[in-house]
Amino acid sequence: MTGAPQRIVIIGAGQAGGQAAYSLRLGGFEGEIILVGDEPAPPYQRPPLSKAYFKGELEADRLFLKPLDYYAENRIELVTGDAATAIDLPGRQVALASGRQLGWDRLVIATGARPRKLALQGADLDGIGELRTLADVDRLKKLGVPGARMVVIGAGYIGLEAAAVGQQLGLKVTVLEAMPQVLSRVAGPEIGAFYTHIHREAGTDVRLGARIEAFEGVGAVTGVKLADGEVIPADFVLVGVGVLPNMELALEAGLMCGNGVVVDAAMRTSHPDVYAIGDVAWRPLVHYGREGRLESVHNAIEGGKLAAADILGKTPPPLEAPWFWSDQFDLKLQTAGLWTGADERVVRGEPASRAFAVFYLKEGHLIAVDAVNSAPEYIVGKKLVAAKAKVAPGELVDKSISMKDIGARASN
Ligand code: FAD
Ligand code: NAP
Repeated sequence: MTGAPQRIVIIGAGQAGGQAAYSLRLGGFEGEIILVGDEPAPPYQRPPLSKAYFKGELEADRLFLKPLDYYAENRIELVTGDAATAIDLPGRQVALASGRQLGWDRLVIATGARPRKLALQGADLDGIGELRTLADVDRLKKLGVPGARMVVIGAGYIGLEAAAVGQQLGLKVTVLEAMPQVLSRVAGPEIGAFYTHIHREAGTDVRLGARIEAFEGVGAVTGVKLADGEVIPADFVLVGVGVLPNMELALEAGLMCGNGVVVDAAMRTSHPDVYAIGDVAWRPLVHYGREGRLESVHNAIEGGKLAAADILGKTPPPLEAPWFWSDQFDLKLQTAGLWTGADERVVRGEPASRAFAVFYLKEGHLIAVDAVNSAPEYIVGKKLVAAKAKVAPGELVDKSISMKDIGARASN
């Protein structure tokens, strides 16, 4: 590693890149910070894009992580609408599409992820789109007029959140999911069954195990053809089938990559002066003794703070167990931990009451919790997950025992 840095370049002005810049300044870094983003907007939060902003309840400037004058006041050079096109590691340079070359002492890669595409006939027809950016959702909002037929492909967070808003906007909504369960990547079968029921009850046609063969239409999409020959009429289609990490720059520069840019616990890549954070980073998941890529606001903020602390030689912030949330209709789903690998699931409360929680255990230890409209279950559960606490399933299921008491009795 070289001496004290004078200039730090951050590629990607999103949730993670923005956080790294703010934490560097807050942490007392006095040198130059250049934050380079290819989108026209300053760093903004994405969660409302599939929720309140799509619904029309929030103005775009309310999404910005910091007011525009923050950047000048804090001597952060914010470059928007310009993409980094190459990283030269030995020469310590980043090339931008505009032709500008930026030298750096430390480099932070925060390029996020991009929606996966469906390689199907008709996929380039007008009216088929994704939901990742402000520009994406502004396009969707124009198509989402009452009565329009919206077909959503993929019942992950994006698909279901957008389907819920679609119903609230008066659209005719169909959801096509390849798996036998909705939210299958992020939650267990009880949560999946509950959300399938909620969406169907609201009037959405939810199809599980759907096989999509092609998009139909001339110029613009008019329908989605399934493998059994049925064509579902569509005025527009939202594809939400997961994301791919934007790691090509890192890969071409020679940094170690797998399903993301490989980093250590301090978010350092295989080059000691280059960091990767946010959706693009393949990082140690310390609570689970393995590595992985997380796609969440918490992960982006934590990565930004960890990289800044390491660059500044400061004590890293304490690590939290991963956490997520999803708002659909009047339901707040709060998740702590990662449920994969669980050998036991315990349901606390009645799904029919629209307030319940699912606890995921592995060898008696709590590894994750999904809480629907159940704040105490989430708050106490999150602490127990972080502590990998041993919890008696019989207590978790018993609503007469408070979460506070369960928390107090749990052992490690
Ligand atoms: P991003 O925020 O995507 O930022 C990366 C930025 O880098 C982008 O602006 C990208 O255009 C830019 N970039 C890429 N390549 C280059 C380049 N070569 N040069 C310059 N710039 C480049 N998470 C939650 O925890 N809760 C939620 O409720 C939630 N809701 C979400 C809703 C939606 C619609 C979406 C899309 C995501 C949601 N997420 C949610 C996930 C969360 O927003 C992401 O995990 C988070 O934004 C990741 O931050 P990031 O900085 O890594 O990536
Ligand atoms: P996701 O959570 O990976 O869900 C995508 C879903 O689409 C999966 O269930 C997937 O099934 C399914 N699918 C894949 N290919 C399909 C096909 N051909 N036909 C039908 N279904 C198919 O991703 P996402 O919902 O697109 O979200 C994208 C990103 O935004 C993620 O990073 C997500 O975390 C983030 N986001 C987060 C939130 C939140 O935290 N509340 C909200 C919105 C978005 P397989 O498992 O078989 O691939």
